[in-house]
Amino acid sequence: MKKTGKTKTRIKLFAAIVGIFVATAISPFKLAAYEYYGWWNDPLKLKTGITSGSYTIFATDGLQYGGKTFMFATAWKSAMGEWNDKTEAAIPYHGDVGGVERIRMDGYNHGMNGVHGWVDMYSGPKLVGHRQQAPTESWDYVVANINAYYLTNHTYAQYRGVAIHEIGHALGLAHEQDGTPSIMNDLLNIPNTYLVPQQDDINGVNNLY
Ligand SMILES: [Zn+2]
Repeated sequence: MKKTGKTKTRIKLFAAIVGIFVATAISPFKLAAYEYYGWWNDPLKLKTGITSGSYTIFATDGLQYGGKTFMFATAWKSAMGEWNDKTEAAIPYHGDVGGVERIRMDGYNHGMNGVHGWVDMYSGPKLVGHRQQAPTESWDYVVANINAYYLTNHTYAQYRGVAIHEIGHALGLAHEQDGTPSIMNDLLNIPNTYLVPQQDDINGVNNLY
């Protein structure tokens, strides 16, 4: 059958539309997926940056809860090491270097409070971010928590993943929402596929400071 001029135009238009969808699928318009707190062009963050100060650990190894022995101190130290090794962050352990404490890591049984872990952010003495409430100002001190209550069925790698996720918040990453591989997916749905910082998380931290 001979195509009329009108049919040819329709085929071209259809091809163009398919082309647009294919192009969108291959190279999404939003190249970065990481999320910050506050405004995209003026995000909130750790005021003193990620190459000064130190972190301290109040959590201990050997905490017994629910028939399990948790290694929370080791997990936190390893978790901070992940960010220090993979991003531009260089926040050493206070016990090694002293320095001003910027992140404190706790780990207890906090009971049924709804979260595996969370962070409280402070600007001076003022609490500016708490648990699931996003921070309203940049911060200079963070208390990061991990909750044994919800972790009795988790492996070390999984609760270390929670610790890595919480440090991600401390460094300024908000929850990742669009399905990009990220440690900043909401870990309430553990086991998360991603238990270490992913490329998008690394870019997010490096581009924030
Ligand atoms: Zn979170």
